[in-house]
Amino acid sequence: MAVLGIDLGGTKTAGILYHQGEILERCRSTTDITSSETVIEGILSTCSRLLESSRSRGITVDSIGLGIAGFIDFERGVVTEAPNHPLHETPVKDILQSAFGLPVIVDNDANVAALAEARLGAGRGSRYLVHLTLGTGIGGGIVIDGEVYRGAQGAAAELGHMIIDENGPICNCGARGCLEALASGVAIYKRVEELSWTKKRSPMLDEFRANPLSFRAEAVGRHAAEGDELALSILRDAGKHLGVGITSIINIFNPDAVTLSGGLLGCFSFMEEEMRLTVDGMAIPISRRHAKILTSTLGEDGGTLGAALLAASLAG
Ligand SMILES: [Zn+2]
Repeated sequence: MAVLGIDLGGTKTAGILYHQGEILERCRSTTDITSSETVIEGILSTCSRLLESSRSRGITVDSIGLGIAGFIDFERGVVTEAPNHPLHETPVKDILQSAFGLPVIVDNDANVAALAEARLGAGRGSRYLVHLTLGTGIGGGIVIDGEVYRGAQGAAAELGHMIIDENGPICNCGARGCLEALASGVAIYKRVEELSWTKKRSPMLDEFRANPLSFRAEAVGRHAAEGDELALSILRDAGKHLGVGITSIINIFNPDAVTLSGGLLGCFSFMEEEMRLTVDGMAIPISRRHAKILTSTLGEDGGTLGAALLAASLAG
């Protein structure tokens, strides 16, 4: 059986042709977020290129799976809300099914990343797995016995919006002190921005002040590696908040594994110690001793592989 797995993010659209447990082809492009039409065109052209590749190999594709950043109505395959791209209320599943005449399945990007990690990645062999994607925002996915847990309406596992501090900074979702508002790429960027308004000096703040718009949260990791104390303290704080979030995850789910993926893992070595100290000091001991906290082994393929696994489940 062959399937396509597509991972749509606010900045890039990635796709794979997946056949008998192997990635035969990868395809990557920048997501054009000008309008819902341009985003859909990007998805269609990614699928077309991969289908072309499958034809040239003499392979028939059975189904297409998509992981999309945002809130997804899983049954209808409609993106109901998306903070990073303009697919609001777009019937992605129907559009792709009529374009290619193949079954299509659409899910939240962190849900599919969790599925990939549970079946093929760091969490392989776990019956109860909770996954966090640490990037611009923080996504979550829960996999139980190899299946994604989606809740009553498909909106479950928004673990980035777990409240860590009810008096904390305002989050994208409108609440205060969510994990995403304290430990995501955006949260780290905002912390640097706040410090840039003070009289404090450091190489990281010099870089930020020179060009705030081109500054990326990942640069904080580079400055921490070069010994910038402010960068180190920002990442340690983020690590502590992440530890508080993982403590709640461990206390609620008693998981076998909590897996972590995403662009912020480049800074993780400076967050990890505080994260583990916090979990060790706060989580319920019986669950804490059992739960492994692991970083992804799938790298950038996690999203597309998860979407491919979802597509494969559809094709039976
Ligand atoms: Zn939130």
